[in-house]
Amino acid sequence: MVSSTIFKILVIVFICCTCYCLGDRKEIPIGGIFHHDNTNSKITFLQQLQKRSNLYDGLFYFTSKIYEVSRLDSFKAGKMACNMTEERVAIIFGPQNRECSSIVSSICHNLKIPHIQTHWDATPPDDKLSTMTISMYPDADVLSEGYADILKAMEWKSFTIMYETDDALKRLQGILTAHKTYDTTITVRQLNEGPDYRALLKEIKASGETHIILDASPEVTREVLTQALEVGMLGEYMQYLLTNLDAHTVDYGQIKYDMSNITALRLINPHNRNVNRVVFDLSDKISGITEATLPTEMALLYDAVDVFYHGLMMAELNQSVRVDSISCEDGGEDGFDQWSDGERLYNYIREVQLDDGLTGPIQFDENGRRTVFTLEFVELVAEGFKQISTWDPIHHVINNKTYDETLAQYSAAIRNKTFRVASRLGAPYFMMANESAEGNARYRGYVMDLIDEIARHIGFKYEFYLVPDGNYGSYDKAKKKWDGLIKELLDRNADLAVCDLTITFDRRSAVDFTMPFMTIGISILFRKPIPKPPALFSFMAPLSFGVWVYTATAFLGVSFFLYIIARMCPKDWENPHPCNPEPEELENIWCLKNCIWLSLGSFMCQGCDLLPKGSSTRIATACWWFFALIVTQSYCANLTAFLTNERMDSSFSSAEELAKQTKVKYGVVAGGSTGNFFRDSNHSTYQKMWSTMESTRPSVFLKNNNEGIERVKNAEGNFAFFMESSSIEYVTQRQCELTMVGGKLDSKGYGIAMPFNSPYRTQISKTVLKLQEEGKLSLLKKKWWEEMDVVEKCGGDKKDDTANEMGFSQVAGVFVLLIAGCSTAFLISILEFLWNVRKVAVENKLTYTQALNSEFKFAIQIFNKSKPVKAYASESSSDGDNRSIAASMLRGASSFLRLDAMFEKENRL
Ligand code: GLU
Repeated sequence: MVSSTIFKILVIVFICCTCYCLGDRKEIPIGGIFHHDNTNSKITFLQQLQKRSNLYDGLFYFTSKIYEVSRLDSFKAGKMACNMTEERVAIIFGPQNRECSSIVSSICHNLKIPHIQTHWDATPPDDKLSTMTISMYPDADVLSEGYADILKAMEWKSFTIMYETDDALKRLQGILTAHKTYDTTITVRQLNEGPDYRALLKEIKASGETHIILDASPEVTREVLTQALEVGMLGEYMQYLLTNLDAHTVDYGQIKYDMSNITALRLINPHNRNVNRVVFDLSDKISGITEATLPTEMALLYDAVDVFYHGLMMAELNQSVRVDSISCEDGGEDGFDQWSDGERLYNYIREVQLDDGLTGPIQFDENGRRTVFTLEFVELVAEGFKQISTWDPIHHVINNKTYDETLAQYSAAIRNKTFRVASRLGAPYFMMANESAEGNARYRGYVMDLIDEIARHIGFKYEFYLVPDGNYGSYDKAKKKWDGLIKELLDRNADLAVCDLTITFDRRSAVDFTMPFMTIGISILFRKPIPKPPALFSFMAPLSFGVWVYTATAFLGVSFFLYIIARMCPKDWENPHPCNPEPEELENIWCLKNCIWLSLGSFMCQGCDLLPKGSSTRIATACWWFFALIVTQSYCANLTAFLTNERMDSSFSSAEELAKQTKVKYGVVAGGSTGNFFRDSNHSTYQKMWSTMESTRPSVFLKNNNEGIERVKNAEGNFAFFMESSSIEYVTQRQCELTMVGGKLDSKGYGIAMPFNSPYRTQISKTVLKLQEEGKLSLLKKKWWEEMDVVEKCGGDKKDDTANEMGFSQVAGVFVLLIAGCSTAFLISILEFLWNVRKVAVENKLTYTQALNSEFKFAIQIFNKSKPVKAYASESSSDGDNRSIAASMLRGASSFLRLDAMFEKENRL
């Protein structure tokens, strides 16, 4: 393209030089129709014609026929075109609106006179009826393709289009069709008559929209943006795309200093040398014109003259162009007189390709529509509009601002900013420190420390305030409105919202969140069971009453059974005098008393010094031992479980169990993420729980966690409250009667919320991550959960797990049993003592009192370790004495013999 252009230029220069040398310049009459208010365009047009006429090496000189017409008078415009053609014109420029231009286009089509138009035409005339028209304004379809590409590059997920006239819809058609595929939400709103657009702006603000495409004239664009600033629709969270190609020509005053992201599109590059030159030439004719404010239409008109000039040169080069007078009324082939050179000239003009017009590269398609141009993508900054990228229909290139550039820009801005941070009261996240104080001194809590840490890292200032309705933020589907903290962000009242605010899908679609600073899950807060005083004989509880009865029966039964079989078993009949190999009688030690003693001893795991010798008695005893082993071990195991259960006793241990029962009611915070978890869950148990909660009266949807905690405490085990684990942890460490039941139902996190697309999100998120890695978040948690505001430290469930000691009340029954046993033993010992006294009195012929006295005296002599068998011998006769001595000697000898026999037996074994 470039080489052919250079070649053509060289040929033209050659012809020009030849003609100039010959001194033969041809007059070319040019027609121009302008509206009354288009004086500046007319000046530009004439200036450029003059410039081209005055060219040192020019082939032609141009004479102009200028007409003015009102914008609505298309009839007159047509008449003027006919007048011009009758007077001879090689081309007609203008007029600058569709109403008037279309009739001129059709006359030119009939008379075969080239026609150039420079205005935007949403519905260009039928190609077949406007074959002589060349349109300098970028073609509607290509332009809308450009808008669509740009928007795609900007990655807007949802946006609202505000447009002034219906033409805009054609311009933005590409966006509307292309974005169907990108899962975007598009709202289209037409601007009202004006000049007050505040109501519409407020409506869009209420919808939470942050991305606006504004298609309006430059003046209306400025007015809309000024009013947007007033209603709080500007700022760093808002992004505007101005699609009018002249949007950059007006001064935006204060708006330039706003942090909002306003981008516009333009055809003119103010830094282009040609633009500088043209503006310089025009500056003494048009006051106040600058490169930045040069309107697109003027630049297009300027380029249009150039295009015509180049086309004319090429046509002349091919064959001399002769301009004839053509009448609209004369009949020709189609009923019209036609210019014979017209079509040829038109084709040359249409084929002109310019690389450096004021409006960028220029090229037309076969229908005379401009298909080559460059769109500059510019951003409004304090110094004016700054180019950030370009788009053209061939390369489609959008060099967007790099991520680092954007980040650097906002890092600088964040330092001068005081963030308004919304929160709500809830321990230990955000609490009132001193109600009478001002500003941040009023509050304290975990999130204040967190924001303080982040602010110190990044270097911004902050100011906390309480959200007026005290809510977290839930969406009312009927009213289509958010409340609480989310509303504050959507209304741009707050830059950040932080508390125990859970990151949820719904909220994420309305606002942005940082990385989670705390991970939590839903669990159940419940009252610890109030311990019942244990029963006196609670040690018997591990075995049921029936088992005790059966065991006692078995004990007695086995003892009696042993007694019977021991009497039958020959081996248990023993020689009472082992030294006598042929005893006259045998003795059986298994009287009923001994059998009971054996059973009891083995049952109590104590054993017994008497053991059976026969096989049958041994089998029976072994079976009893086995039975005793199982029963005692089961008792011990059950006792442990019983004691543990007693501590842990609660009617449910998980959400599923809670759902199954009806005695304990349960609830959640109204409008909180916990409630929404149950409401939106697909899990049948949670769905059922949600229905139960909805139908429970009085309502179980409580205003905040504190109300829930109070209700759990007061309901005496009849109310459980679903709360987030970190809050449960905080409460159970301070209120020992409360506990967490079961595990977590889900896993999620608390995040710092901010308006959608907040430019500060990345920086704040990075800082949260850094604080987490540095361990600062855990330190903060430790501080607010374990150290601050602790009156009574409960130690949680861990202590309970280790503290297994039993209270006296739990073992009192055993003591009672011991005392009863000892008392019985004492009673029996007194009876035995008295019986012995009676025996002594009878044997020694003493009175009861004497015997009692002497026995009692002897009993209380605790240092006296031996008792004479015949303590009263001296007090009776000497005969008896001798007899008793002899008897005692005999008894001693016999016991000696029995001992001797035992040793012998043992040695044998
Ligand atoms: N953290 C919850 C939220 O952000 C509120 C408390 C709850 O629902 O348990 O919605």
